[in-house]
Amino acid sequence: MINVNIPRTEQQRIIIVGGGFAGLNLVRKLSKNSNFQVVLIDKNNYHQFQPLFYQVAMAGLEPSSIVFPFRKLIQKTTNCYFRMAEIEAIDVDKKLLQTSIGSIAFDKLIIATGVDTNYFGNIELEQNVIPMKSVSEALYLRNIILEDYEAALIETDHEKRQHLLDIVIVGGGPTGVEVAGALAEMKKYVLPKDYKELNEEQIDIYLLQGGDRILDGMSASSSAKAELYLQNLGVKVCKGSYVSTFDGKTVTMKNGTTYSAKKVIWAAGIAGKKINGIPETAYVRGNRIKTNEFHEIVDMPNCYALGDIAYIQSDQLPYGHPQVAQVAIQMANNLAKNLINNTHNPFEYKDLGSMATIGRNAAVVDLKRMKLTGFIAWAMWLFVHLFSILGLKNKLFVFINWVWNYLTYDQSLRLLIRPRRKG
Ligand SMILES: Cc1cc2nc3c(=O)[nH]c(=O)nc-3n(C[C@H](O)[C@H](O)[C@H](O)COP(=O)(O)OP(=O)(O)OC[C@H]3O[C@@H](n4cnc5c(N)ncnc54)[C@H](O)[C@@H]3O)c2cc1C
Repeated sequence: MINVNIPRTEQQRIIIVGGGFAGLNLVRKLSKNSNFQVVLIDKNNYHQFQPLFYQVAMAGLEPSSIVFPFRKLIQKTTNCYFRMAEIEAIDVDKKLLQTSIGSIAFDKLIIATGVDTNYFGNIELEQNVIPMKSVSEALYLRNIILEDYEAALIETDHEKRQHLLDIVIVGGGPTGVEVAGALAEMKKYVLPKDYKELNEEQIDIYLLQGGDRILDGMSASSSAKAELYLQNLGVKVCKGSYVSTFDGKTVTMKNGTTYSAKKVIWAAGIAGKKINGIPETAYVRGNRIKTNEFHEIVDMPNCYALGDIAYIQSDQLPYGHPQVAQVAIQMANNLAKNLINNTHNPFEYKDLGSMATIGRNAAVVDLKRMKLTGFIAWAMWLFVHLFSILGLKNKLFVFINWVWNYLTYDQSLRLLIRPRRKG
């Protein structure tokens, strides 16, 4: 296998695979230290801000507002390199990382590849549902929604039209709830203006949740409030509903109930992708990689795992830390400190709270000492997300879009842009 061309220096070479919240935060910290040569590997050449994918899917934001090119980020550094590649295998003994563009030697290796959509081995589901784990999938969803509205306008058969209009969302976590709320607002505010001939009252939006409440990672009062907000927007929240399969036309539940819809958005599960060279014993539930509290992968010297893919065993958290941005960021901060100062400080997660938005002036926020709902919670959600987006230009564009949408009750991005079809 060819060696990837990266100058070898006296510096300690740290390879970081994955430029998400964890990987990127680590790059930023380590790139300030001249003892290290930092090599970032990612299958894309940009960082994606996942919490706002649903707004791209609902035509509220441009994809370019929520992604940030890695090369721009490392422009001013002298010890940082980026290579666009996919990880293929790790040779721990030779300290060699194999990627789709060749092999690279490392002194230390950090795996921060995040997680992917989990279809629980159901091929039919995988082929027919729409996931939302990348900006391209969000854009795909936007196109499908708009295409189906166009098709519904010319469809004369009631049942077929209904099939094009109804949407099923599977998974009542923050992603499912936010998508359901945004779709319901689109139905309420946009459809009557854009598709006057369609009767928006006929559109059904279902949110299917396996457990007995939505937002089950938040407090019971927040989940009840979120459900009320969704119901007020006309979303049909179905709890205790486990999907068995979806054949592209009908969603079949484990209890035999069926829903007819062409579009099923899958926000019901995530799992990591296994990497050759990481021993089977290092994997736990959801293909997360087991590490100690210093982020070191068990039985793999000089290799670390951070973020969604990492699982730190602890009695308090038998299922690991929540797979959210704050955990990824705080893990990266802790590892950066340990690497820079040559220390061994264990990871301690500081829970800053959790939040979800349902629509305009409607959100829920759980903080340590208080719970917020309504406009204050919604304003806080906007502020936190705006603050977290990378790049001043992106922040500005997102802010302008939000203000515009808020004042006009309209989104300006309902464009159906598709790749050119050959032939
Ligand atoms: C739709 C959605 C909404 C969310 N909303 C919220 C929210 O509101 N608040 C919150 O705290 N969290 C939210 N999350 C979760 C949050 O985004 C994750 O916890 C966080 O992104 C984890 O960071 P990470 O660095 O571990 O992985 P990621 O951010 O997923 O980054 C992984 C990186 O690795 C790269 N990569 C993956 N596989 C390979 C490979 N084989 N080779 C090379 N590179 C690879 C990817 O391209 C990506 O850049 C949301 C997630 C989704 C999907």
